[in-house]
Amino acid sequence: MNIVYVLAHPDDAEIWCGGTILTQIEKGDNVKVVYLYSTKDRKREALLLSKHKVKVEFIKPIEKILRRVIKDFNPNIIITHWFKDCHHEHKDCFDKVYKILPELLVFDKLKFSFFVCDTYNSIGFDNSKFIPNTYIDISKFNKNKKELIRNHTSQPCDYFIDMVEKQNKNWGIENDCKLAESYLQLPVQGNFYEYKL
Ligand SMILES: [Zn+2]
Repeated sequence: MNIVYVLAHPDDAEIWCGGTILTQIEKGDNVKVVYLYSTKDRKREALLLSKHKVKVEFIKPIEKILRRVIKDFNPNIIITHWFKDCHHEHKDCFDKVYKILPELLVFDKLKFSFFVCDTYNSIGFDNSKFIPNTYIDISKFNKNKKELIRNHTSQPCDYFIDMVEKQNKNWGIENDCKLAESYLQLPVQGNFYEYKL
């Protein structure tokens, strides 16, 4: 399967979806991460993910460019940030992806499932809780996930590892495993397509 993540900043892939990405790479999926907001230093840190066979691309946050990049990749699954994410650039990623979904579906004739990922302490800007409908067991990959987060030396890595590990433990309890990442699958123009995370 082709799986594309559209995320705001280098380290978002590792923090929110790192275990899932490693699971997909192990299965042989073709994984691409597109970042909309990066600085030079953070790009260098983000590229370390490409050692794990993940394609990483940095683009400007412009819908026309994003549509072309997604169309060229022909994804079965698109993942972005949650629409209630409290970081405005995360929310902006959702808004930009959501705006082009009808074009990708109707004009570009892509067929894909659409998911949004977890956020800081699983709480949205309006104090509502992130309620997922999809869980990925990442117990096997947690050590590697933490190593990936630590690649981002310009960031407070231990703070993020501490926070996200608690969240992954909580999702693990709901999913009957030690640690899980969670996602919410959303309909695309009223349809849920068959591709599962
Ligand atoms: Zn971010």
